Amino acid sequence: MKRRKFIQRTSLSSLAVVTGASALACKENETNKASEGTIPITPHSIPLVVATWNVKDATQKAWEVLQKEGTALDAVEQGCGIEEANAEGQSVGLGGLPDRDGNVTLDACIMNKEGHYGAVVYLQHIKHAISVARKVMEETPHVILAGKGAEQFAVSQGFQKENLLTEASKKAWEAWKIKSEYQPIINIENHDTIGMLAIDKNGDLSGGCTTSGLAYKMAGRVGDSPIIGSGLFIDNEVGGATATGLGEEVLKTVGSFLIVELMRQGKSPQEACEEAIGRIVKKNPHFKEFQVGYVAVNKNGDIGFYSIHEGFSVSKIQDGTFENIPSDYFNKS
Ligand code: ASP
Repeated sequence: MKRRKFIQRTSLSSLAVVTGASALACKENETNKASEGTIPITPHSIPLVVATWNVKDATQKAWEVLQKEGTALDAVEQGCGIEEANAEGQSVGLGGLPDRDGNVTLDACIMNKEGHYGAVVYLQHIKHAISVARKVMEETPHVILAGKGAEQFAVSQGFQKENLLTEASKKAWEAWKIKSEYQPIINIENHDTIGMLAIDKNGDLSGGCTTSGLAYKMAGRVGDSPIIGSGLFIDNEVGGATATGLGEEVLKTVGSFLIVELMRQGKSPQEACEEAIGRIVKKNPHFKEFQVGYVAVNKNGDIGFYSIHEGFSVSKIQDGTFENIPSDYFNKS
């Protein structure tokens, strides 16, 4: 039976037989016997880390965590944290481009193998939004905290407040204010929202997504990145997906959830990403004016990615080798 049929027909309990250590054994032996049947999963290469854009340091950090027997959850948190602390990157954490009033406001979420999720939206003054999101997931009865409440919670958990608006981002904002034209930017300097997916040595998936959102957005705007099913979705039975680009379009099509559900129905990660992009371009005649990119991974460690326009790329480490791979895209005209 092909893997796609297997996913459709199997139950969670029988799938558990081929996760984790047995998945690795399966890789080594090519085939593996269970209950007299041949387990059809032949994991490609796990552990693995994939992320949106060219984020070598973040991807390598996540990989190091996995090599030290860390979980996929630890890997995505620590990997994303590298870019959040990087003042040079102007779309995540410290140094993120501000909203039109000059305030840096962060959105982030994290999702684990059990399907638990935590998020912060409109968080200010705390650079490690992904870690605050994890605390929301683990330490509160809620899944999303916003604005002042998120900030107060972060401080109560020991996070330090700081000014996230760097001189470079302040200068860029001041230059923007001269015309104050709001336009979605197709690819921000090859380095944008970090959406990261990881599979650990046990075959378990987690994902994280962190961003300062669209540059010069309206005050109070929240994008797709911290919203479950839009910027990120994980189902440890099937796979995970994450998004970058114009969040409004991802939100309207619930893109990451769509991709995971398409994989559940038998599509490869590549086919699922292409269909999710197809939904956006079909519904929005202005697709030439904005970018959306998706990356997805299934339980086997198969990866797919696709975008509307040229310029999107994916960072990946499988078998210890880092690659930054340009994405195929829809708009070839
Ligand atoms: N998706 C993010 C948002 O809409 C921005 C981005 O990925 O560029 O907030």
